[in-house]
Amino acid sequence: MTSLADRPSLTTALLRGWRRKCPHCGTGSMFRGYLTIRETCATCAQPFEPLRADDAPAYFTISIVGHIVVSGLLGLEVYAHPPTWVQLSIWLPATLILTLGLLPYVKGTVMAAIYCANRSD
Ligand SMILES: [Zn+2]
Repeated sequence: MTSLADRPSLTTALLRGWRRKCPHCGTGSMFRGYLTIRETCATCAQPFEPLRADDAPAYFTISIVGHIVVSGLLGLEVYAHPPTWVQLSIWLPATLILTLGLLPYVKGTVMAAIYCANRSD
């Protein structure tokens, strides 16, 4: 059992989660692959199985990417009014790249938030 002094703050845990590291120690990796979670931390043995994020990372990622892509698309339309094929050739790949790029980091952050919510202080 860890003492209260050993536990990271919410901000520290979230930043560790964003880096896809264990929210408890900040050293061990939470992921075995792109989105596959390890059972426990290799450094401090913190179990990751209870940190089930389910669909929350996808929801938050879609929200973030949607705000970026829609505001960029509308801004470009207002200021440059490019043809539709230009808009599609910019924003469809941007949506795919941003979504796949952000998803693991958002998942790590959500898992760290669950870690902070589940710990019994
Ligand atoms: Zn750890």
